[in-house]
Amino acid sequence: MSADEKNYIQGATGAWEIVIGMEVHAQISSKAKLFSGASATFGAEPNAQVSLVDAAMPGMLPVINAYCVEQAVRTGLGLKAQINLFSVFDRKNYFFPDLPQGYQISQYKQPVVGEGKLILDMPDGSSREVGITRLHLEQDAGKSLHDQSPNQSYIDLNRSGVALMEIVSEPDMRNSEEAGAYLKKLRTILRYLGTCDGNMEEGSMRADVNVSVRKPGGPLGTRCEIKNVNSVRFVMQAIEYEARRQIDVIEGGGQVAQETRLFDSGKGVTRAMRSKEDAHDYRYFPDPDLLPLELDAGWVENIKTSLPELPDEKKARFIDKLGLSPYDAAVLVAEKESADFYEAVAKGRDGKLCANWVITEYFGALNKSGKSMADFVIMPEKLGGLIDLIADNTISNRLAKDVFALMVETGKDAATVVDEKGMRQVTDTGAIEAVIDQVMAANADKVAEYRSGKDKLFGFFVGQTMKASGGKANPAAVNDLLKKKLAG
Ligand code: ADP
Ligand code: MG
Repeated sequence: MSADEKNYIQGATGAWEIVIGMEVHAQISSKAKLFSGASATFGAEPNAQVSLVDAAMPGMLPVINAYCVEQAVRTGLGLKAQINLFSVFDRKNYFFPDLPQGYQISQYKQPVVGEGKLILDMPDGSSREVGITRLHLEQDAGKSLHDQSPNQSYIDLNRSGVALMEIVSEPDMRNSEEAGAYLKKLRTILRYLGTCDGNMEEGSMRADVNVSVRKPGGPLGTRCEIKNVNSVRFVMQAIEYEARRQIDVIEGGGQVAQETRLFDSGKGVTRAMRSKEDAHDYRYFPDPDLLPLELDAGWVENIKTSLPELPDEKKARFIDKLGLSPYDAAVLVAEKESADFYEAVAKGRDGKLCANWVITEYFGALNKSGKSMADFVIMPEKLGGLIDLIADNTISNRLAKDVFALMVETGKDAATVVDEKGMRQVTDTGAIEAVIDQVMAANADKVAEYRSGKDKLFGFFVGQTMKASGGKANPAAVNDLLKKKLAG
């Protein structure tokens, strides 16, 4: 079955297939703006970070920030994309109160980064590839403040001129889960690279979501673009709603109008904002204040060799070298901090056992605590110490959960908790045999039944023996010894 057919069957959209392409605006992690030296940090007093260039005073000239270019190239390389050594800055003309220049400096026909790809890690452990069309550099606009006064609007130009990367995908996604997985994976890659903090609440990553529907295999339908959605959950909700709306329009005999829409997160609906403008409405032309951007191949190569290990490579290594399932590996690499924590725990230990402990017990306790990883009591050495006690049979996996809970509560290390609570597992066969003898003596009738063929009673004897040992007997040893003794 092709991916298209599968999605068609899985989707709750009847005979329709959803097609999604995304344009993500990612704010570049940089101290200064794209064409001025003003600070780009978040949260300053309104208009505290505005240079004359950002305010578009007549005669001011933009000067490209080389670090921002480097960040865009780094991101392109992280997306396995073509880096264009020659690219051009264009003016995209439009009027907006918070755009004092009357145009945005962007890149149009010749962007700095061309085609690349991104691998989606789906919740069922499978993967899917989405094409990246391009990545270009552009400046952000300011912000209109409508809630500061009952009868006036104010303008805050702090964001004016801040460097953005617009990352455009091919229309390769087929449902809201894939769109959610795309945003998460893109955010993970940007964070690994250190090129954008990926913080959607603060607006450093915003998604424009293009949605259309079609009969599977047919030509692409007319799309609507949902602007500036600022969380993964909202992107997914907006797609579900919008696809349903378009299907209803078509099935009602109408036609979908190409338009720009907004998502109302309170009501969970999309609403028409304006009919979609075409590129020619912007009167793009090369910005005469800026020379084309010419990059040196050696400089790009240096950035390439300095890239960190990226999530896909890390995931592959966790699967190949540490024996993890694709699902576990994807969970662990989603945040670099989690991957580093896991690797510190797994060093010199069983990879799979460590992954289970990190994903289930550690993440569970961490979430419950509401703390950050750096502030949580369980450090890699502590969890590793506990896993060592499981591996050398000092405690059973089941008892280890109790030990872990006490470690979280008291901050003590595993060995201390085990000693203080007398939780050491009994592996001494003599001691276990003594317990089995007691259990058999107290249940002579059941021993007789077992011996006359009632095999099912074996579980009863295991339970009784474990109970009599206070849960401390080694389960494998109990099994072996019980088999021998019950056989008579
Ligand atoms: P614009 O910049 O005007 O929005 P583009 O042609 O660059 O236009 O496309 C922007 C986004 O729309 C891309 O992510 C692309 O994948 C997506 N897209 C294009 N056609 C469709 C379609 N029919 N359905 C869904 N998404 C689409
Ligand atoms: Mg668009």
